[in-house]
Amino acid sequence: MPGRVIIDESNTFFYGETNLEGVLDLVSRSKKPVQELAWASIGNVLTAIQICEAHDRGVLVPWNSWRHEFYKPMGTLHDADRGGFIFAPEVGLHENVHELDFSSLYPNIICTRNVSPDVIRCDCHSDRDDVPGLGYSICDDRGYLVDVLQPIIDARDEIKAAIRHEKERDDPDEDRLAELEGRSGALKWILVACFGYQGFSNAKFGRIECHEAINAFAREILLTAKQRLEAGGWRVVHGIVDSIWVTPDPDVNDEDREDLQTLATEITERVEIRLEHEAQYDWVAFVPQRESDAGALTKYFGKVAGDDDFKIRGIEARQRSTPPFIEDVQRDCLDRLDTTRSPDAVLGRLERAIDELQAGNVAVERLIERNRVSKPLEGYSQNTQNVAALKRAREQDLAVHPGQDIEYVVVDDEKSSRDRVALAHEEIETYDASYYETQLVRAVESVLSPLGWDRTDIRRELSGERDAVLSSFGASNELS
Ligand SMILES: [Zn+2]
Repeated sequence: MPGRVIIDESNTFFYGETNLEGVLDLVSRSKKPVQELAWASIGNVLTAIQICEAHDRGVLVPWNSWRHEFYKPMGTLHDADRGGFIFAPEVGLHENVHELDFSSLYPNIICTRNVSPDVIRCDCHSDRDDVPGLGYSICDDRGYLVDVLQPIIDARDEIKAAIRHEKERDDPDEDRLAELEGRSGALKWILVACFGYQGFSNAKFGRIECHEAINAFAREILLTAKQRLEAGGWRVVHGIVDSIWVTPDPDVNDEDREDLQTLATEITERVEIRLEHEAQYDWVAFVPQRESDAGALTKYFGKVAGDDDFKIRGIEARQRSTPPFIEDVQRDCLDRLDTTRSPDAVLGRLERAIDELQAGNVAVERLIERNRVSKPLEGYSQNTQNVAALKRAREQDLAVHPGQDIEYVVVDDEKSSRDRVALAHEEIETYDASYYETQLVRAVESVLSPLGWDRTDIRRELSGERDAVLSSFGASNELS
């Protein structure tokens, strides 16, 4: 069809994650046709950009099949790449927290440290120890991966500057902003992917030693930053991948504490990668892993300074399956924690919600759970709520395919038959109050667990047996 391009919106990664400008930007870099790029995976596009670079350099491209399944959302990537992680979050509620982020850490490591498959562990400098702790050499010649990524980093920095500039204008052009954001987003995906991609031994241009080297440099950089921040009077409460979270060290006088911006500039110069002040929070709470005292890497919530909003990661209010009623109660609990710092105030909200539930006063629409169906009904071996919902859908001749959502209200969680749930579109008369109560308690547990509470404590308090424990609580925690 000459002069026309068709993008299948139901089957496109980049178009869905960015926008048309983002797709077109990548088309120009990868020389892939628009239609092909729209359904391509990140790894696929990255490989295409690398092939262009290899072609320009006259390098032969290995003739292996590449993996198409390389697609992970950003969160999964960060979780999987724990290699770069060092400082576990300190469980608890911390007042006055600043988040500092290294700008495009992994791609910048590749470019500033010359990490590239063609130059790592070179034969000509095999006696050298260029990668901290690994004993790998890195050749003095510039690696091709640097040539691939540097233009993308530069382009993204330029786009980000243009975005800042546009936002500072009295009357920002929203269309132009959307275009710029789309292009920046597309490039960010490529930059994020370039690191994970090195971990695939059968990726066309991947090499596991590069993956290890990037991690080793990242650890060294984060450690350097941590030491400098601590020497400047700040305490590191969390550090993951490319972010560091600090709070004023209580053992240091305010007049002895160095300015965070000055410290960030100094660290930037030392490690040759920009450390940016990302956000300030009135407080941040890191949530422990369930059944453990260790902090979960990606579960936290905090109050953004000078903003009415919370930043929430990994807890119920962020999960798309959570019913609106549970989400609303959890957000109310965050509000109460913010204004009072009092577990009692939070429990008061929980009690009211439970009363509402038990009295049958919650509208069923607010109790709808939305779950992604991962396989056909026959593929499930256990009797989950999803299975009950799928059986109900089949009974009503409704087709629900893997990848689609199914929406239901839990009617009687004790049942294993299809009467366990009712589908969202059905006439629903009742709900399982005790099931939803359990969900509520879990959601409130997430809010109070940084303060040392678990669901047993919450239950005990609800039934009025916790007075003794409660009075000793204030002394053992950093709450005033
Ligand atoms: Zn060499």
